[in-house]
Amino acid sequence: MSQSPVQGGRDRLRIAIQKSGRLADPARALLTSCGLSWRESRDRLFCYGESLPIDLLLVRDDDIPGLIRDGVCDLGVVGRNVLAEQDIALRRDQGASAFREWRSLGFGGCRLSIAIPETWEWSGAAQLAGLRIATSYPAILGDWLREQGVDAGVVELSGSVEIAPKLGQADAICDLVSSGATLAANQLKPTVTLLESEAVLAGPVKPFEDSRAALAELLLRRLDGVLRMRHSKLLMFQASREAVPGLLPLLPDAESPTVMQIDGGDGLALQALCHGAVTWQRLEELKRAGARGLLVLPVEGMLA
Ligand code: ATP
Ligand code: ZN
Repeated sequence: MSQSPVQGGRDRLRIAIQKSGRLADPARALLTSCGLSWRESRDRLFCYGESLPIDLLLVRDDDIPGLIRDGVCDLGVVGRNVLAEQDIALRRDQGASAFREWRSLGFGGCRLSIAIPETWEWSGAAQLAGLRIATSYPAILGDWLREQGVDAGVVELSGSVEIAPKLGQADAICDLVSSGATLAANQLKPTVTLLESEAVLAGPVKPFEDSRAALAELLLRRLDGVLRMRHSKLLMFQASREAVPGLLPLLPDAESPTVMQIDGGDGLALQALCHGAVTWQRLEELKRAGARGLLVLPVEGMLA
């Protein structure tokens, strides 16, 4: 069989994504919307690319930067938080980066923040001096504390960081927050944010020099199209020629609308690709300004 997950020739691209967890489904869905499809293998750790020579490796998110560094995978979908933490640690140990962020992907949003007991007043970073802060992100936290000139103890924990203050292991924590519900459940409140995170496409620092370069370029082109179109809508409507000057200011986010003459008279058919939200309110304003037969269509892809 030529589908060895281990050897992988240089003529196929291999992307690591999270096997299960918050980023697993959206990562796969995003790659699927770029036209990728896979034949599932029985162990489900390696998915052989069918529509394109782009394979998937399903792994723990923490392993993704290392897999890219070691050349086991070419690209990966991982949280900026994980990538930044491992990059700082690697630069400290080896003096150079081995991976970088190629694109931000618009899902998996969260913040890496300092949280303190609910009953405390927050007066700024200096307040942390002499305290113990529990975290799974010792490198990011260490850098931040140094920048702030604050001398605090960093207690490295691999999980369940939010219960550390209750267990007496730490006074404060530095952890990922999205809604804040987990913090609240542990009588903690978020204060300063060290990093705004989301899922990113990670890749090597240097571009590929073999046939993977063309594959990566194709993938990035499709990805950019999908990301750009995500919130875009195609708006179609009719209007009289006189109404057009009043309608165009209502479409500030639209690429120059296509205007077609209909029924040989004064009537025009217009279509505009809008990159902002097309709300009911906006449709009603357009209608008041003379638009008729408004139709809003989702956009699946675009190749400029
Ligand atoms: P794995 O088994 O792959 O190691 P994990 O438990 O480390 O999984 P998840 O909890 O699935 O990982 O989180 C994956 C990523 O999702 C995080 O690294 C972060 O980038 C993002 N994320 C978004 N919101 C949150 C949140 N509220 N808490 C934790 N991570 C979040
Ligand atoms: Zn993890």
